[in-house]
Amino acid sequence: MIPSPTAAGIARNASPYLHGGEETALCQALRSGQYGHSELTDTFEHRVARLLGVEDAVAVASGTAALHLALLAAGAEPGTEVVVPSFTYCATVQAIVATGAHPRFIDVDPDTGCIDDQHVLEALTGNTRIVLPVLYGGRPVDLTAASPVLAARGITVVEDAAHAFGSRHPSRVRVGATGDLTCFSFGPIKNLTCGQGGMIVPRTRTEATTLRRLRGLGVVQSPTRRAEMTSYTVDGFGMRAQMPSLNAAIGLAQLPHLHKIETRRRSLWRTYADALRTVDGITLVDVDIDHALPHLCAVRVDSDRRDPVFSRLRGRGIAIGTHYPPNHLQPAFRRWHRALPSTEQLGRKILTLPFHPHLTEQDIDHVTTELAHALEATR
Ligand SMILES: *Cc1c(COP(=O)(O)O)cnc(C)c1O
Repeated sequence: MIPSPTAAGIARNASPYLHGGEETALCQALRSGQYGHSELTDTFEHRVARLLGVEDAVAVASGTAALHLALLAAGAEPGTEVVVPSFTYCATVQAIVATGAHPRFIDVDPDTGCIDDQHVLEALTGNTRIVLPVLYGGRPVDLTAASPVLAARGITVVEDAAHAFGSRHPSRVRVGATGDLTCFSFGPIKNLTCGQGGMIVPRTRTEATTLRRLRGLGVVQSPTRRAEMTSYTVDGFGMRAQMPSLNAAIGLAQLPHLHKIETRRRSLWRTYADALRTVDGITLVDVDIDHALPHLCAVRVDSDRRDPVFSRLRGRGIAIGTHYPPNHLQPAFRRWHRALPSTEQLGRKILTLPFHPHLTEQDIDHVTTELAHALEATR
């Protein structure tokens, strides 16, 4: 019996959750002898598209690859300016830089960790070609109010929905089904895992074709067609970024259980929200729990108490996190630094509590109690 990560409790900030069918599915894929892109990958694409309510979805090797390829498909190249929150995982920014484009960092709303229409409209310049909202914690981001301006200027929205697989918009439409170019991650600790993997929702058939060539070394023919031909055509740039069948097999086994993850993560988030109501000195980052499939449970604490609280909880075996240190302050991205007061404050205040489907209500009670003690001790 392969050990499963079911024991993960508060000692993990995040953890994959296995439903039981993953091992068999993975073994079958291993025995099939086809480890690269296979029909399993195609099936996974179809099932994800059906779940989201979209025509097509393009599976890739990771969330970072999804962003990289989506940005390329949206025309990112050297000189392109991409408006993006600094408050995100560094993967978002590395994907921009990988295309030769550059980030124009913008502030977020500290109550949500997300950008809004106003932030975007204020930041646009004559060079902006792409706006990249990050759905922090799984929260749907609605840029409808800005979209006439974006459309008039020919600006594409590429969504980083790495946290938000399964989330819905207030209209009940799933994230990914609103017509933007949406990128998901199926990395180890995301709402759904393939071990490693990502998915792009393309806007058109042409875009889907472009993305499939970009992920497959620029080869025009699909892997299946190619096997029947004596040659193949490479018609442009391409990367080795397809989703291996081994990963697709894990994702396929996870997918039918997403509704359970949705219920579980929402319920855990609400349990935290209720428990934290009585804790002085913290503010919960709002994830829009009625619509989100939450990926994080983040709170803000006074910046001068954040680090001592972090250390104390870590010392007590509670895997507290700080998602995320702002990117505009990172050495690699310093050349694109702008003053972003809300983000800088948020970066000093943020704490992410252990949050994954293995948690129990008692775990949450324990974390909340310890957090309250740590706050009292640092007053
Ligand atoms: C996980 C993550 C990514 C990258 O996804 P990978 O699958 O790890 O490459 C990008 N953006 C955000 C916000 C993420 O959390």
